[in-house]
Amino acid sequence: MKNLIQQKLQANINDKTTKYIFIIAFIAFLCAGIIYMHFSWNSSIKETQEEVTRLAEAAEAGISKTQLLELNGDPSDLDKLNYQELKNGLILFSKLDKKLRFVYILAQRQDQIVFLADSEEPDSSDYSPPGQVYSEAYREYIEPLQSGKTVITKPIEDRWGTWISVLVPMKKPQTGEVMAVFGVDYPTETWYGYAVTQTVQAGFAVACIFMVFIALYFAFSQNRALSIEKQKLMNADVKLKESETLFRTVFDQATIGIAIGHDEQYIASIPDHIPSINPMYEKILGRTQEELTAVSWKDLTHPDDVALDVEYYNKFKTGEIDGYDMEKRYVRPDGTTIWTHMMVSPLRLNNNTRYTHICLIEDISKRKEMERVLYDNQRSRMVLLDNLPGMAYRCCHDREWTMEFVSQGCFALTGYHADSLINNKEICFNQLIPEKYQEFLWMKWEERLSEHAKLTEEYEMITASGEVKWVWEQGQGIYDEEGNIIALEGLIIDITERKKQEIKLNYMNHHDTLTGLYNRRYFEEVMDREKTLNVKKAVLLVDLTNFTLINQTFGYNFGEKLMKELASNLLLICSQNCRLFQISSDRFAFYIKAYHNKKELTSLCSTVMDTLNTMPALKTVGASVGIVETDDCSDDLDTILKNALIAAENVHENQIFRYSFFNKKMEEAVMREAEIKSELSMVVLNSEDDRLFVEYQPIVGAKTNQIVGFEALARFQSDKLGRVSPLEFIPMAEETQLIVPLGQRIMRAALLFLKQIEEKGFNDIAMSFNVSTIQLLREDFMSDLVQAIHETQVTSGNLGIEITESLFLNNYQEINQKLEKLKRLGIKIAIDDFGTGYSSLARERELNVNCLKIDKYFIDKLMYLKPEQAITGDIISMAHKLGHLVIAEGVEQEEQRQYLVENNCDLIQGYLFSKPLLPEAAMEILERKNPRENSKPI
Ligand code: C2E
Ligand code: MG
Ligand code: MG
Repeated sequence: MKNLIQQKLQANINDKTTKYIFIIAFIAFLCAGIIYMHFSWNSSIKETQEEVTRLAEAAEAGISKTQLLELNGDPSDLDKLNYQELKNGLILFSKLDKKLRFVYILAQRQDQIVFLADSEEPDSSDYSPPGQVYSEAYREYIEPLQSGKTVITKPIEDRWGTWISVLVPMKKPQTGEVMAVFGVDYPTETWYGYAVTQTVQAGFAVACIFMVFIALYFAFSQNRALSIEKQKLMNADVKLKESETLFRTVFDQATIGIAIGHDEQYIASIPDHIPSINPMYEKILGRTQEELTAVSWKDLTHPDDVALDVEYYNKFKTGEIDGYDMEKRYVRPDGTTIWTHMMVSPLRLNNNTRYTHICLIEDISKRKEMERVLYDNQRSRMVLLDNLPGMAYRCCHDREWTMEFVSQGCFALTGYHADSLINNKEICFNQLIPEKYQEFLWMKWEERLSEHAKLTEEYEMITASGEVKWVWEQGQGIYDEEGNIIALEGLIIDITERKKQEIKLNYMNHHDTLTGLYNRRYFEEVMDREKTLNVKKAVLLVDLTNFTLINQTFGYNFGEKLMKELASNLLLICSQNCRLFQISSDRFAFYIKAYHNKKELTSLCSTVMDTLNTMPALKTVGASVGIVETDDCSDDLDTILKNALIAAENVHENQIFRYSFFNKKMEEAVMREAEIKSELSMVVLNSEDDRLFVEYQPIVGAKTNQIVGFEALARFQSDKLGRVSPLEFIPMAEETQLIVPLGQRIMRAALLFLKQIEEKGFNDIAMSFNVSTIQLLREDFMSDLVQAIHETQVTSGNLGIEITESLFLNNYQEINQKLEKLKRLGIKIAIDDFGTGYSSLARERELNVNCLKIDKYFIDKLMYLKPEQAITGDIISMAHKLGHLVIAEGVEQEEQRQYLVENNCDLIQGYLFSKPLLPEAAMEILERKNPRENSKPI
């Protein structure tokens, strides 16, 4: 189409251009013609002038000038022969050329132009006798006389007519002086006759060429019109072919089946090669054109659809209806059916009634299948909805929640039949919701709908019987294309049982099962909620760490009863700003907020102390109270409780019920402990790590001052904290069980050093090392020691272990047996720090020990007590009575030594003689103080 328009436009443009070219060519040609005619005219005139000039000059030349000179130019000449000859010559000359009219000779006489002779017969009326004045003579006639040149005049009108004269000057032969003028007159008609003839000829030629030009133009135009016509015909042909191709393409590729039929038959083909059944028709029905034309469409129609189709067709045939459409099934050759949408319309080509109808069919089997699935789905949905454990609904978005659909589960849930809720027939859904939830639910729905989001809520519902049920609802808005809410749809399920469980679980989650107090988890939630509360907050922790002793002593029932009683007693202390929580089985915590000063907390502590004091059973185990103000640490409950515990553990130990406020120093101590423990754990396990090493303190004879042995003392050089005393790290190692590998390392180091000493020839120097309870109680202690002795090849009789009295408190029998075994190996056993523990001298007797080391405490006393006041001497003598060797520890002063010597103390150990030394120094002092020949056994 676009092409056609373009072509048309192009043709129009071409037409116009041709026209313009022709007009321009025509004008150019016209101009050229005029120019040519003008030129022809001019050249003819010029030619005439030249010819007559030549003629006149030739005639003038033929006239005898001598004869002429003899003429007077008056009537007297008439008689002169010269005149007669001249006149005859002029007459003859004028007759020679018919174009000539008048020939004459003029001369100037007394300022007048007079005739000398003319060509007129004497009897002619126009005859001019000699001397006749030429009165009409113009200036042009005088010009040749003056200039001596031939002159051709302009057309001159006189009484004889209009003339053009050729005037040739006649000169005297001797002087050349102009004596007369020879004139020849041509009538203007004759003069211009030649030019006119020439111009007319030229004009005719131009006209002829013009005619040819016009003829050519018309021929060209005609030819062009013909070719345009031809082009149009060709275009029409192309269009026809195109539309035919289009028709065939559409027909062949149409996604709907097209067939032309007559009555009950399909038509094979129609004239002009127009197809009658398209490929899609064949495809849908699964039959070729030949197969289709061989049967009636009734035979191909599904039996269930034949009747309706025939009914419609008959109406169509009789003209009752213009056409019809229906959904019908065809049976394909393989027996399967295919659903189609069929349209039948009348078809009349060139009034040929043979082709009665055109039938269009569309394959709708997929749609039908979807409809079937949809129907099945809907049915399944209904079955599903009615069997749902709850109530599925569709309701209006109004305050009543007017129900449009309610599933059968409604009755089980609400006690009302589904029908009674539809359109608020008997009751509206909102009436089933307790008042406290009505506004809440409405607001929630509004919020969710505005976000086009789902609503999920739990709330209570009152059933027909008045029972309150917990329900869970999930629903969503249904919107139209513009986003307006059409309805709400959802499901409501009875969750009463789950809710009960949840409440129970929640209770259990937040309460201590024994006392019913809120637990630590709930405490955490409270703290978290009140994080931003800008008031003073504190936690008071009641720590009953030894409460297990009550269980062990009086039984668990008693313990539980006591704990409940304690909880209820502590609850009495609570107020609006003071709440009680149970942190663990043996720890309570008060959470105090909005208090004014520390004094309030101290007074609360006293109240707690008083309460504890009212319970005698508690006095047997005691309790510590730690208080933390949140200003002193972070709000994190874990940290608060940890700090409260630190405070509780830092109380003074001389009261049954004690309290202590947490401070930064406590925290630092805890941090230090953590650091030591962590570093120690790394150090101990790596035997190459030299942060753990051993120093040896000499033990000397009290009287002799000779080294009899060494005590191996563990040393720990921390990276961060520097040198850490064993008094600090040993208890920590015991607490963390690190004491076992640590003890093994010390023991091995001590044995190796002893081996060195022995190798130096000191065969009777003793080596003792400290053994903690944990080490000794381990089954492998003995085997480890024996193996180390075996490996180092030291004399076991030179070995000694130092144990503390506390060891015997709980495991007396077991320990004593072990000591017995050690003794049998020759290993000496010393009771370290004697006098500070629980043990008594009376019990020492039964112990398998060899030696008592009197604690520095008793040695220090010697410095400020009078000798008779000190009991140190008594301890020494009693120990001796028990058969034990006595070593005094921490002897720093000579006075102390004196006392000890006087009181028969066997050995002394202390800075007085030497501080603990590194192995090299220890060896050096040994060699210096103990020359080998003087060395003696202990
Ligand atoms: P201990 O076994 O009673 O050791 C004697 C302590 O008294 C040593 O302290 C020693 O340096 C110190 N001492 C000795 N003479 C004097 C003195 O004249 N003046 C003063 N002020 N102190 C003196 P040290 O080395 O700090 O050890 C302390 C405690 O650590 C030891 O007391 C022992 O109970 C324990 N200990 C040391 N090493 C080990 C070990 O390897 N294993 C075990 N289980 N405990 C060890
Ligand atoms: Mg010791
Ligand atoms: Mg000691």
